[in-house]
Amino acid sequence: MSRRTVILGAPGAGKGTQAQRVCESLGMEHLSTGDLLRSAVKAGTPAGTEAKGFMDAGKLVPDEVVFGVLFERLETGNVAGSYMLDGFPRNRAQAEELDRRLAARSEALDQVVEVNVPDERIVGRITGRRICKGCGRNYHVEFVPPTKEGVCDDCDGELYRRADDEEAVVIDRLAVYHEQTAPLIEYYSGRGLLVTVDGDQPVDAVTGAVLGALSGNVAESN
Ligand code: AMP
Repeated sequence: MSRRTVILGAPGAGKGTQAQRVCESLGMEHLSTGDLLRSAVKAGTPAGTEAKGFMDAGKLVPDEVVFGVLFERLETGNVAGSYMLDGFPRNRAQAEELDRRLAARSEALDQVVEVNVPDERIVGRITGRRICKGCGRNYHVEFVPPTKEGVCDDCDGELYRRADDEEAVVIDRLAVYHEQTAPLIEYYSGRGLLVTVDGDQPVDAVTGAVLGALSGNVAESN
């Protein structure tokens, strides 16, 4: 059974952490467009060069650039049958393009999980976030600390804070989320695909809720 899923939520809602945990537990592939774009920036590819200024400013990267990095991976990469998209789609045009690309392969999304966290909790959550330079694993100084400060538990990589996690940029990213991404909640709930979980609880409780959401009501396909 393949599961094609999306995790939706504001920046800092814990999507990346939850997607990593859930994918590990269910053997699904975690596909984060933010991670794919950050790798492209680091590698200095044309897509990365185009994306960098938008990312640093907390703005959305143009759809065509994101489609390039994501669909190259989804359609030509060796992506397992089951995956969770994290950070995509971010607007209506991306959601519609995803539907079209899947339909062209006789596929469709099975489920969309929204991780809901009130805005007033977001800034504190994001500014404590740390990421591994080596493997990209997410940490939080308070909620998901590494065993040894500043060092990744998995690969001993150095932990860093993303430039776009500065408070001023976070406020812009939240505004972009409400204007462009939040309307997707209605888009997917109207199609009966959406499950909302409370993201403002301890990390393990949120993981349990996301796993619960995925275990109920997942359409069987292929
Ligand atoms: P994230 O890691 O999901 O918070 O994404 C970091 C940044 O990458 C965002 O602020 C955007 O600049 C860019 N980005 C990631 N995913 C997308 C997307 N689906 N569409 C446009 N820009 C994106």
